[in-house]
Amino acid sequence: MQSELIQIETIEDASSLAALSAAARSRGAELVCRRCLNIGEAIAGVLVMLEGDEIWALCGPCWRELPRGMHAA
Ligand SMILES: [Zn+2]
Repeated sequence: MQSELIQIETIEDASSLAALSAAARSRGAELVCRRCLNIGEAIAGVLVMLEGDEIWALCGPCWRELPRGMHAA
């Protein structure tokens, strides 16, 4: 997805999410939902801000609340 203000990439396939989660764990962090911070919820997708070098993980319920067009599902 692209907009004029910010470029965002979405990651929602299981193998990429597993790799991101493993990378976070290797830095002593846990991939936690950015919105509700509920560590008990599995991460359903990740938004990658291409310019800020920042990633936002989102759990299933929060991911489904993303505006239409932000992800394919
Ligand atoms: Zn959440």
